[in-house]
Amino acid sequence: RAGATDARSAAWRDDRRHVLHSWSAQALIDPVVVAGAQGSWFWDEHGTRWLDFSSQLVNVNLGHQHPALVEAIRAQAATLCTIAPYHANEATARAARMIAEVAPGDLDRVFFTNGGAEAVENAVRIARQHTGRHKLLSMYRSYHGATAGAIALTGDPRRWNAEPGPPGVVRFWGPYAYRSSFHARDEAEEGERALAHLQQTLELEGPHTVAAILLESVVGGNGILVPPDGYLQGVRDLCDRHGIVLIADEVMAGFGRCGEWFAIDRWGVVPDLITFAKGVNCGYVPLGGVIVSERIAQAYQQRPFPGGLTYSGHPLACAAAVACIGVYRSEGLIERARRIGAQIIGPALAAMRERHASVGEVRGLGAFWAIELVRDRATRAPLVPFNAACAANAPMAELVAACKRGGVWPFAAGNRLHIVPPLNIDEADLRHGLAAIDEALSVADRYAVD
Ligand code: PLP
Repeated sequence: RAGATDARSAAWRDDRRHVLHSWSAQALIDPVVVAGAQGSWFWDEHGTRWLDFSSQLVNVNLGHQHPALVEAIRAQAATLCTIAPYHANEATARAARMIAEVAPGDLDRVFFTNGGAEAVENAVRIARQHTGRHKLLSMYRSYHGATAGAIALTGDPRRWNAEPGPPGVVRFWGPYAYRSSFHARDEAEEGERALAHLQQTLELEGPHTVAAILLESVVGGNGILVPPDGYLQGVRDLCDRHGIVLIADEVMAGFGRCGEWFAIDRWGVVPDLITFAKGVNCGYVPLGGVIVSERIAQAYQQRPFPGGLTYSGHPLACAAAVACIGVYRSEGLIERARRIGAQIIGPALAAMRERHASVGEVRGLGAFWAIELVRDRATRAPLVPFNAACAANAPMAELVAACKRGGVWPFAAGNRLHIVPPLNIDEADLRHGLAAIDEALSVADRYAVD
């Protein structure tokens, strides 16, 4: 390793001088210059390799440089790189058909965007137009993207710098049994009380003023919060009773991450709109969209659809989506995600909870798991305070550094490590990475009472 000399490569210097990185104080970060990636691994300019337990931003569900996706993009580039969205083309049409095939119920029409936030913006606009109402309900502890509307609907601190947002957004508490807002004693009670709270919120807001309830079917970036059985059905029933559009944000949880095509399928609930991005094509070329129920889409037979983007249905991105959905199917990866969750990740995390005083709770499904870290398992005091920065976040920063030293790139958020590897990760790699996390947790244990 050449160490500090190589660290000042041209790429590093240009980055430091000219690139503004997301959500960061630029002087406090030191980005790795990634030189390459293959499968579940990526490496820097010095050849240091990490096992990607974060699937980058929980999007590379097939790992890096999957040959089927690379070839599909190459072939599409040779045929037709781009075309205006008012034309039809084979890649976009096939991608839309394949997405409709795997979507639940009558969700058969797709409006393509460049990513998740734009998908949320368009879903909200459709819901408002469909209902003629303006109000939107979304959860605390949620993330929906960083454009004006999507960040206003977000229920985590990333919203604060974008306030005041547009009017009409009301936030409610979703189920989170480990830190119950409802003094519930178990998952079932948490689900019931969270539903009662939502019902009351609707009553006091006036359900006839509410266009949509927007929720992540399984909350992702804010903690991998799996709703208790019956909760999503209860939300569906409330929406039906009051003519409210149910928008399932599946940007992170969808496309196999939860061991289903869409996370909401696990409970057999059919929303009116689904927002997707990330796993639809693993982000090899940016792509997102809204899947619209036929009932709602019918309105756009005679009147114009209220949205548009220069790159809607971009052929390169859609060709990657066609290949990606093809790989999920041909390699049985939806089922595989369910299996590695139930047979490998879940049991390994449960064992870590037994061994480590700092592990308060482990939860998840499929390839979508969280380890929630605490200072004291009796009081559940979090390892770091909510929205901790700098010194207050030191225990988490040390834990993340220990994971990286152990060769694993984790996804850290708040007082949690999220275990979100590619769905096709090699089993030996998965076990190796879990062992490295297990070892790194001894760093967090130093801050916890036994
Ligand atoms: N919705 C959810 C649930 C997400 O997790 C994200 C991103 O992490 C978004 C929306 C925003 O997607 P994008 O960053 O592609 O705009």
